Amino acid sequence: MTTDNSHFLSDQIKSLGESATLKMSALARELGAQGKDVISLSIGQPDFDTPEHIKDAAKEALDKGITGYTPVPGLVKYREAIINKLKRENGLEYNMKQIVVSNGAKQCIANICLALLNSTDEVIIFTPYWVSYIEIVKFAGGIPVTLKAPIENDFKVSAEQLRAAITNDTKLIIFSSPCNPTGSVYTKPELEAIAAVLRDHKDIFVVSDEIYEHINFGDPHTSFASLEGMYHRTITVNGMSKGFAMTGWRLGYMAAPEWIASACAKIQGQFTSGASAFGQYAAAVALDSDLGPTRAMTAEFEKRKHMMIELLGDIPGFKVNDPQGAFYIFPNVSHYFGKTNGSDTIIDADSFAMEILNNAHVALVSGSAFGNDNCVRLSYAASEDTLREAVKRIKTFLADFT
Ligand code: PMP
Ligand code: GLU
Repeated sequence: MTTDNSHFLSDQIKSLGESATLKMSALARELGAQGKDVISLSIGQPDFDTPEHIKDAAKEALDKGITGYTPVPGLVKYREAIINKLKRENGLEYNMKQIVVSNGAKQCIANICLALLNSTDEVIIFTPYWVSYIEIVKFAGGIPVTLKAPIENDFKVSAEQLRAAITNDTKLIIFSSPCNPTGSVYTKPELEAIAAVLRDHKDIFVVSDEIYEHINFGDPHTSFASLEGMYHRTITVNGMSKGFAMTGWRLGYMAAPEWIASACAKIQGQFTSGASAFGQYAAAVALDSDLGPTRAMTAEFEKRKHMMIELLGDIPGFKVNDPQGAFYIFPNVSHYFGKTNGSDTIIDADSFAMEILNNAHVALVSGSAFGNDNCVRLSYAASEDTLREAVKRIKTFLADFT
């Protein structure tokens, strides 16, 4: 037996919450290892393999000996591909010094928060939010301010709400569109209304997390930095994980004003250095290539979304909306709070998720991890058959709760 000496840990690490998405998928793996047939809809990663031409490019890079350290902000070839992509697809002009490549978009967000936040700085986080924003903000010393959007508004924050939440201490705003965990996509007019509010507050910066950019079923994507007056205060975060099915490659990037980019590169130079060299080489090829595989994957997600709306909408008491992107659905399940099947009682979204995991053997994530206590997140990055089976199990289990 080992002694628990965890009281020696720093105060900062003791107050850091664990990633609920990663925790839930680890629990699902554990149950699986015990021989249970668990369906995991808990983690946000495409159920597709990285396209062959990208894998081939990584092999080519290895054969060419691209195996050494890269410049801290990223391999020149990859940063060039990013600059071209941002120009071609998003109408944005950047130079090499404005791009920083990191080990996933997650590290980009951490770098940005560490670079910008002081202890009195408030960060407005559109809620429901992606699980890590709040912990990263706190870890970096900032004060998270959650701005909650209801399902009736497709989980989107309005410009009026934002205006009312801004104080003299507001330094940063963080949101994702398409959004994790709701799949909501802010329309161009909605983003313009938000930009109009910010034009009255010149010292507020914006992290626009566009990692689900390509997994969008509706209007063409709008980059927040492209809106009037927003370029010099927006940090665009993107990466390879979702649109190119490259979660395990750990490659993300930011495009930012030069002074922010160089601060982030300085942090990264002390913490991790440049991301994997041959991975970056392959990611450059991914960005330079036709988006055929990405579009095919997105079409598949859209089909599944329709199926999930129908199947989940059929479970008594579930309230679902129609997400326009990503591969998540975020039903309100509060109907079941306080209900019992005789042996178990569902108290809240956390216990809902645990009951479903332990009894229906489906892993999903409690909405509390995303700042909404009435909902749960299901990732539909799984085959149609798997999704049908998962929803059937959930429905059957809940049928006994009154
Ligand atoms: N932002 C959002 C909204 C995400 O959902 C994720 C991961 N699912 C990330 C950032 C981080 O992505 P990665 O670190 O894999 O690039
Ligand atoms: N971001 C993905 C998710 O929301 C992957 C897990 C994580 O990085 O937290 O499931």
